[in-house]
Amino acid sequence: MRSLTTRLVIVISSLLIAAILAVQLYWLNTTYRYGTNEFNTSVLKVVRGVYEDIPLLYNINSPLDSLVEKRDGRSFLFSIDSIPSKDSLMVHLRNELEDFHVFTDCRVALYDHKKGEYIYDQYISADASKKNNDSLSAIPIWKNKHSYIHLYFPNRQQYIIHEMSNWIYSSAILLALLVGFAASVYFLLKQKFLVEIQKDFINNVTHEFSTPLSVIDLSVEALEKPSTQSNPEKWNRYLSSIRTQSAYLNNHIHNLVNTVVVGQYHLAMESREVPVNELLRRAVIQLEPLLQKKNGQVIWHLEEKQVSIPGDESHLYLVFFNVLNNAIKYSESPIVTISTRVENSRMLISVEDNGPGIEVSQQRKIFSKFYRAPATKQVKGLGLGLYFSKKVVDAHQGQIRLESIPGKGTIFTIDLPLKK
Ligand code: ADP
Repeated sequence: MRSLTTRLVIVISSLLIAAILAVQLYWLNTTYRYGTNEFNTSVLKVVRGVYEDIPLLYNINSPLDSLVEKRDGRSFLFSIDSIPSKDSLMVHLRNELEDFHVFTDCRVALYDHKKGEYIYDQYISADASKKNNDSLSAIPIWKNKHSYIHLYFPNRQQYIIHEMSNWIYSSAILLALLVGFAASVYFLLKQKFLVEIQKDFINNVTHEFSTPLSVIDLSVEALEKPSTQSNPEKWNRYLSSIRTQSAYLNNHIHNLVNTVVVGQYHLAMESREVPVNELLRRAVIQLEPLLQKKNGQVIWHLEEKQVSIPGDESHLYLVFFNVLNNAIKYSESPIVTISTRVENSRMLISVEDNGPGIEVSQQRKIFSKFYRAPATKQVKGLGLGLYFSKKVVDAHQGQIRLESIPGKGTIFTIDLPLKK
């Protein structure tokens, strides 16, 4: 489980990244607005310059604001009283645009109020090599009370953004740095998490292998004593304990080895007719000592017909053993109900327990390699049984599902096809 410090690091880093991104976005937005205002001011200066260069107005003292009208951000209309010649207007306009550093394409159209139409229309390209008027679409007539010159800047937005390019590059670099930082934190934490899993795993392996071995060791010692040899009941008890513990070891070794194999190769599956009910009974017999130790009980609801399914017997046996073993070992006083039934050409095997249950948020994770739910950490295990079981069931074109109510218990259902 991730420690408090790890969570703090994640929360603080995420907050920092979010704050830096928010500030950066705020500055980009402010710069864009500033660029837009600056562009509008420059265009107004251009218009004022043109008014000063050519006699366009009867009253040259009229305030600029009342003469110029902005439309949709890209169009500026400025009123005129007398119609200038096209050439003179173009020459002066070009000069003013250059003087006030408006280096973007501009379409100039002159609307004659008396004629009720545009009398000329010229495209001034910022790129001197491009200057044709050919494919200009019709320009809308905005008003008809006065004659006016219509300045239209089709690429205004791109131009403003281009003017902000230094800001945009620095933001992109900052974003790349933040992504790099987030990725480093992620990989460091992942590494730390893997080291923790490895440590847990080694502890669990040590426990899971050393406990049965010491029980076997003690039982053999007891078997060697004459007092045990002369007491058949004691003798059988120690013998059964050795059998159980060695079966346990055997299953752990299988789970371990198979997990390594699953990671590297495909599981080699034999295909035979597997008698499901019999396999379940065998698994319960092997788990009998654990069941007795916990005063547990098994309730059977088996399909009456002796149904067999195609599959790999030893692998399926391990699947049943793992699910049953969990049902018993995680429940305090286990009452385990085992049911089998045939439905729509499939065999459904359910194992229901009255154990601690599994939180919804962990129900998918328990099938991951080494994953162990925090609530059950006090019971030892390797976190491999369900991982391996799912692989085996998948390889049989089956499914393993669970329903669980925390505090009440869990039902694992293994759903296998009756035919290949
Ligand atoms: P192990 O039992 O060795 O830890 P498993 O892969 O069999 O590994 O199970 C993974 C985890 O799923 C367990 O550690 C436990 O947290 C949870 N789990 C599995 N079966 C049950 C169950 N019947 N009741 C409650 N929790 C369970």
